[in-house]
Amino acid sequence: MEFLQPQTWAEALQLKAAYPHAVPIQGGTDVMVELNFDRYRPEYLLDLTRVAALAEWAPDNGRIWLGAGVTYTRVQTELSGWLPGLAMASRTVGSPQIRNRGTIGGNLGAASPAGDAHPPLLAARARVQAESVRGTRLIPADEFYTGVKRNALEPDELIKGVQITPPAGPQQFCKIGTRNAMVIAVAAFSLALHPDRQAVGTGIGSAAPTPRRALAAEEFLAQALAADGLWESRGDLPGSTSRRFADLVAEAAAPIDDVRGSARYRVHALSVLARRAVTWAWHEFRRA
Ligand SMILES: Cc1cc2nc3c(=O)[nH]c(=O)nc-3n(C[C@H](O)[C@H](O)[C@H](O)COP(=O)(O)OP(=O)(O)OC[C@H]3O[C@@H](n4cnc5c(N)ncnc54)[C@H](O)[C@@H]3O)c2cc1C
Repeated sequence: MEFLQPQTWAEALQLKAAYPHAVPIQGGTDVMVELNFDRYRPEYLLDLTRVAALAEWAPDNGRIWLGAGVTYTRVQTELSGWLPGLAMASRTVGSPQIRNRGTIGGNLGAASPAGDAHPPLLAARARVQAESVRGTRLIPADEFYTGVKRNALEPDELIKGVQITPPAGPQQFCKIGTRNAMVIAVAAFSLALHPDRQAVGTGIGSAAPTPRRALAAEEFLAQALAADGLWESRGDLPGSTSRRFADLVAEAAAPIDDVRGSARYRVHALSVLARRAVTWAWHEFRRA
């Protein structure tokens, strides 16, 4: 196995163009597991850890640009004010060691339906910045996940980062696992309120072949809040509204039975998570 070690982003893109089958490695918390279990043996590893630009994040014209190499620990400590949903999700990933190494770009690269960064990225309507020597593409998060552990990257493309406009309202992330820590999600849900646009964002994890939005639930809640004048009055959220929202979130799922949980349990869990998330987010919105 050859180890390619670019020092700059331009060099990384040139190497990926020259060796499209090279497997990128950032924190290595997914890649090294695959290698150690001998699940595959790539001819080339493309080590991105020396590309300093990937480990940066910055405000950019009202948006946050988040480099693919930013770790969960840094999202927690540096970005919880801008992106509380992603910070909450980051806090639930693995152990401190995994959070110190594991990155948002690596979660996107792996594109596991259970990856914890995906639901808040979907809810915030993030866009993934994919680059190659041919140019740059901004891929909306809900078009990025194309199948189980598959994403929209072309063989010569790398993820440079993610662009996110921080939602103007509260964000929530909830996850159920088979225990309280160091656990892959059995079901996860993220919610973002966008009061500036009177819109709602959602993200479902671990309950479909890909992370996905609950589109009918988003539309229902946004319209119900508008019809009752609640975006402006910030009055009580009717129980019937939060219940219907939760039902629609559960209906958007397409889970399977596996070792971590049954499909039926996942659907039920999602409706509970969705109801909790909307209740917490609404309380926060009223207090703000
Ligand atoms: C003990 C343990 C616990 C874990 N717990 C969780 C958890 O609770 N929640 C969770 O979501 N995940 C968890 N994971 C999985 C893993 O930590 C995350 O998916 C993490 O985000 C991977 O990031 P990384 O930087 O380590 O990626 P890497 O392992 O370096 O790469 C992961 C994938 O992304 C690709 N890749 C990396 N960077 C790029 C790039 N810039 N462009 C294109 N492709 C790229 C790689 O080729 C690979 O396919 C756990 C893993 C372990 C070992």
